[in-house]
Amino acid sequence: MKHLYEIAVLPGDGIGVEVMQACSNLLQHLQNLSSDFRLNLKQYPAGAAHYRDFGDALPQATWEACRNADAILFGAMGLPEVRYPDGTEIGPQLTLRQGLDLFAGVRPIRAIPGAPLALADSRAEAIDFVIVREQSEGWFFGRYHPEKIPSAGADEAYDLGRVTRHGSERLFRFAFELAQTRGHSANRQARVTCVNKSNVHRGQAFMLSIFKEVAQSFPQVHADQCYVDAMALYFVKQPWLYDVLPTENQFGDILSDLGAALIGGMGMAPSADIGLSHALFQPSHGTAPDIAGQGIANPTAMFLSAAMMLQWLGTRHQDASLLQAAIRIERAVDRAFADKALRTPDLGGSHSTSEVYQAVIKAL
Ligand code: ATP
Repeated sequence: MKHLYEIAVLPGDGIGVEVMQACSNLLQHLQNLSSDFRLNLKQYPAGAAHYRDFGDALPQATWEACRNADAILFGAMGLPEVRYPDGTEIGPQLTLRQGLDLFAGVRPIRAIPGAPLALADSRAEAIDFVIVREQSEGWFFGRYHPEKIPSAGADEAYDLGRVTRHGSERLFRFAFELAQTRGHSANRQARVTCVNKSNVHRGQAFMLSIFKEVAQSFPQVHADQCYVDAMALYFVKQPWLYDVLPTENQFGDILSDLGAALIGGMGMAPSADIGLSHALFQPSHGTAPDIAGQGIANPTAMFLSAAMMLQWLGTRHQDASLLQAAIRIERAVDRAFADKALRTPDLGGSHSTSEVYQAVIKAL
């Protein structure tokens, strides 16, 4: 009997709504082609516009739906002119990350054949690595636990970083297990590189020591480490050498944007926030207010995030039809870009969201 998967769909604000519409159509089309699986894609309100209009960024019903769903598909949230009274951004994604304990931020950086790359070196065509960002502690700890930050006078401000054994162990285990499942060619061994700043921060030295402990349980995977400042350089000089890169929360945040730039920008970079029992899938980009409403947002990152969702669900439920569907989306995206002519404005062309959607549908 085929399984029905409940997907909580949160389009959000700005281009989140536009790329989600294209993605929902794509998933619907995929289901029409295959009778082997069923997704119940149900939309829920959340985001900055919802906060502005109703005073609530993440309604209780949306939160409950996310908690009960098999997976969460998320567009983007936040608007520059809408802020909480203390001036901070409306970010339900951080609330979901914390509330559902989505500790691993998985950001694949893969060069899509035919899509424009930032580096002229032809070896950049082989870029294929994954940043695994720790998302429950690190330098974001104070954001999650403001009560733990020491009170300060008007002339000072504090942030608090925290690294725990539990948080680091589960992150590194996740990274090594991921490395083992990635297909590697004969000349490319599974490799996990811990990106850190252990030469300066005690928490980082502690995190690295745990990395070394965990690495011992995975002797078949090559394990090494690199300082985050050096990794910023290597992202430009030799990004094709890396495989899986676990790192601290803030470092992962920064490196993800740099990584996205290598493969064509934010519109090309998918992501997943994964915990032990829940997962949320969203493009790496924000709401892009500068282009919202024009129908020119690049939906590729959203499509590839949906593929990650199908892959995660397929693995979790041992459902080969979902794994197959994930591969079909990835291959269709690759094929759509292969003729080098598909270009939204962020890629230097003039194609619309709907033209990218049509090209991917045709490739399917
Ligand atoms: P956030 O802080 O919410 O992550 P941000 O301020 O970093 O958002 P984005 O909203 O991701 O920024 O946009 C950054 C730039 O990239 C903008 O100029 C935007 O137009 C462009 N951009 C982002 N995503 C896309 C996309 N899918 N298609 C086209 N351009 C995009």
